[in-house]
Amino acid sequence: MGLSPAGQVHTVRRRVGLPRALTPGYRPGGPYPGSLLRALRDTVSPLPSSHLRRHTSVYGALLVGLAVTGVAAFFVQRDIDERRDRRFDDAVHEGVLGLQQRMDTYQAMLLGTRGLFSSSQQVERGEFHAYVQSLELRRRYPGLQGLGFSLWLKPGEVKAHEASVRREGFPDYHVWPEGPRSAYTAIVFLEPLDARNRRAIGFDMYSNPTRREAMRRAMETGLPAASGKVRLVQEFEGDTRPQAGFLIYVPVYDGPAGTQPATLELRRAHIRGFVYAPIRMGDLVEGLRFPGFQDTVDLEVHDGEDSVPGSLLFSSVQDGPWQEGLRLGLRREVPITVAGRPWTLVFTARESFIEKNNPSQLLTVVVSGLLVTLLLVLMTRAQVRARTVAEVSSVEQQRLASEARMAVRIRDEFLGVAAHELRTPLTSLKLQLQLMYRQLRQGGPLDAERVEHGVASCERQTTRLSQLVDSLLDVSRLMHGRMELRLEPLELGEVTRDLVRRFETDAQSVGSRLTVDAPEPVPGRWDRLRLEQVLTNLVSNALKYGQGAPVDVRVRGDGDAALLEVQDRGIGIAPEDAGRIFDRFERAVSSQHYGGLGLGLFITRQLVEALGGHISVESAPGQGSTFTVRLPVMGPGNGADATVDVPEEPRTPLH
Ligand code: ADP
Repeated sequence: MGLSPAGQVHTVRRRVGLPRALTPGYRPGGPYPGSLLRALRDTVSPLPSSHLRRHTSVYGALLVGLAVTGVAAFFVQRDIDERRDRRFDDAVHEGVLGLQQRMDTYQAMLLGTRGLFSSSQQVERGEFHAYVQSLELRRRYPGLQGLGFSLWLKPGEVKAHEASVRREGFPDYHVWPEGPRSAYTAIVFLEPLDARNRRAIGFDMYSNPTRREAMRRAMETGLPAASGKVRLVQEFEGDTRPQAGFLIYVPVYDGPAGTQPATLELRRAHIRGFVYAPIRMGDLVEGLRFPGFQDTVDLEVHDGEDSVPGSLLFSSVQDGPWQEGLRLGLRREVPITVAGRPWTLVFTARESFIEKNNPSQLLTVVVSGLLVTLLLVLMTRAQVRARTVAEVSSVEQQRLASEARMAVRIRDEFLGVAAHELRTPLTSLKLQLQLMYRQLRQGGPLDAERVEHGVASCERQTTRLSQLVDSLLDVSRLMHGRMELRLEPLELGEVTRDLVRRFETDAQSVGSRLTVDAPEPVPGRWDRLRLEQVLTNLVSNALKYGQGAPVDVRVRGDGDAALLEVQDRGIGIAPEDAGRIFDRFERAVSSQHYGGLGLGLFITRQLVEALGGHISVESAPGQGSTFTVRLPVMGPGNGADATVDVPEEPRTPLH
């Protein structure tokens, strides 16, 4: 760092590194090549399809987790359903067994009572009363309304029978309903003789078709026979809970005790009466005990082989149909036979049964399955992310490696070009020196004109050499980011004229007319050396690529800025090259036709920008080129002491 005559030193730190991307096909400021771009795009901001591809394992884990949960839930639910069905079937089984046992017990009791009648010719009322009392009907046989004996009467026997019963202390006794019939029966005993049962005394059950059917069956088979559904005579008209009823009859025959007539005719001929029991269905079934009954399982008892409403003997269903049980198939119809009569038992599960048998197991399995799935997905996602990061860094490494390879290639190419460029003036210098040395050795008189010509040529070659070395040094300095600017008040027109004058010989040698047009003084604060470098590079290029046509240099003031234009009418530049020629080592001509390092415009741009200005070119192939430099008159940062930061490469193309 040093002081300028004006006492101001601008140190501009240049951050000029190796070109950031020197991968094949890369142009500064332009896009990255396709494959690299795709790789980066895929890793950094994935497209939907690549997102799907990358996250396949995450979705896979999700699907597997959900599938396993689903299958587990399915099997658990199936197990629950099976256990519930089994429990329901157990309840049904116990219900059927309970009812059948009860009916068997009642029939056994009736058969025992028949024994009482068969053993003694005449059973006294008191005797029967005592017998029934000993049975404890209400407690042991729920639903049984009583136990009675109905006497078989031929039409001619009715009157005498009525008279004999009246004599026993029942003055109002009569067989009812009245009317002529082929055969009569009359209830003579019915214990316990409470108000309900008293109503039935004298009733001819054979007059009623339903009862008659059962009585006839009992008489003809000699076995207990249950009637169909009847309204018992014991039911009061105004009963709030009328119940359906039925009766079981056991026939009693004349003849030796304990024997039974062998044939149907004998049985019809020797019938003496029937031991029977009226049974209220509700009381009978409600006493039943089996799992869930009256609580979670409903029972219907139908008389007959079908569960039709008209045949309903009993129903524990309280509120309407049992949709839930039906929906789940928890309904069983079981046919049984009670005293020779077919019954159908219908068991249905209530909603509460399903709820009670629906353990929280399923919920536990589903919740645990979902949690495990979530865990699986999170773990897989973490793995995918780690892999993505690794891939991104691998792409980045590949990019850096590619850049490094490119940089080495460019360096090697440059060294080749630089060696060639340096050798050209060196060879020429060496030839001139050898020529002059040979003349000296010959010892003859020296031709002053030839010596002068030789020395002048040597000087040109050394100037060329030093220019090349200066360019290399400039680039090296720029690369290390440090450039000193010595700003001083200058007049751009004057600096330009001075500089252009130095090119007169060169212009003549290529046959170009070189003019400067600076009509008015353009003062400003600039670094003279750097300005001269800029002018030198532009003018020497104009002469070099100008094909001997005139070259015009123009200087103008434009308020705060100064404009410098160098126009030639030479080979011009293709539009696609106009952007890159300002970059390092970039050339748009073949090295066979034109020598050069591809550094002049790069250095020029760096210098112009360090001075706070910018450079651009307008050109077309074969039409010549016009380079325009625009510089602030106050120097960088309005001429104040400042450290100017110049942006890193790549730069925006300058055209
Ligand atoms: P070089 O040493 O090759 O001249 P420069 O950096 O000065 O390096 O120029 C870079 C390239 O720009 C040149 O190789 C040439 O192709 C092109 N160029 C520069 N100036 C002109 C011009 N006045 N007319 C046509 N092409 C030019």
